[in-house]
Amino acid sequence: MPIDLHTHSRRSDGTDAPAALIGKARAAGLLVVALTDHDTTQGWEEAAQAADQLGITLIPGIEVSTRYQGRGVHLLAYLPDPDDPALTAELALVLAGRNSRLPAVVERLRAAGVGITVSDVERVSGHAAATGRPHVADALVALGAAHDRDEAFAKWLSPGRPGYVDRYAADLVDMIGIVRNAGGVSVLAHPWSRSSRRVLTAQALADLRRAGLAGIEVDHNDHPADVRAQLRGLAADLDLVATGSSDYHGIGKVGFDLGCNTTTPEQFDILMSRARRASADAGLVDRVPAVTWTR
Ligand code: AMP
Ligand code: ZN
Ligand code: FE
Ligand code: FE
Repeated sequence: MPIDLHTHSRRSDGTDAPAALIGKARAAGLLVVALTDHDTTQGWEEAAQAADQLGITLIPGIEVSTRYQGRGVHLLAYLPDPDDPALTAELALVLAGRNSRLPAVVERLRAAGVGITVSDVERVSGHAAATGRPHVADALVALGAAHDRDEAFAKWLSPGRPGYVDRYAADLVDMIGIVRNAGGVSVLAHPWSRSSRRVLTAQALADLRRAGLAGIEVDHNDHPADVRAQLRGLAADLDLVATGSSDYHGIGKVGFDLGCNTTTPEQFDILMSRARRASADAGLVDRVPAVTWTR
């Protein structure tokens, strides 16, 4: 019963339309797929329609850009009310922060000798809720300034590189509360990848659990086998759901194919029961879908 709880469409920095992504998920044999575009719910409706038609279950989600103790942390929010005022206000701030820094990014790259313009970048981000670094990376690749997204980040866009400009991020603990008040559940995305590992210690995970965190993404391609084993142990100790997912971005991320990591039905069921409880606590009707386990 393959379950993949983390994917991106072109409404953020993936390359498939939401409906196309659902079609590919079905072709890959998935029965449950979460669409978790960065900081937006814009793809939910199209994905839900496609999922309905194809008989697979969509879990609507968002990968929220947050900050914790000075570091960027990605938080997967599943099944929140997309019209919740506190949630939409924070997402709008992140999206606006991403858009408003673009001219500065382009300016810095130009100062470093790359002949890039804002419209070069906006040409590749036309379907997205906001224009972010992955779109700048794609534009750099199109201009021949890098071979692929990864190299564009390493050469130009990562902290310390010429085109890096910081932007707004939501406070992690606040966002866990906002998601809960909106009737949703929170799962830390790839907690021990890149910079977030440094701040997401075992003690921090325990604190975040008390703040309402429901789970952590254990099986993710950014985590080697020993990290997965450690995180699985921490999840068990702290009563956190352990998920697994692809972080699919279409052709935007090589080797992160749909279903390359999956979540077990047991862990998924616990996550959904926490979502039902969050909705009840928030006084909302729950948004947890009935899963079609056959096809
Ligand atoms: P932004 O929020 O616009 O700063 O862009 C950050 C996004 O870029 C992250 O959410 C990742 O999806 C992506 N990203 C960050 N670092 C890298 C990297 N080294 N290689 C590829 N994609 C990256
Ligand atoms: Zn992404
Ligand atoms: Fe992420
Ligand atoms: Fe992601």
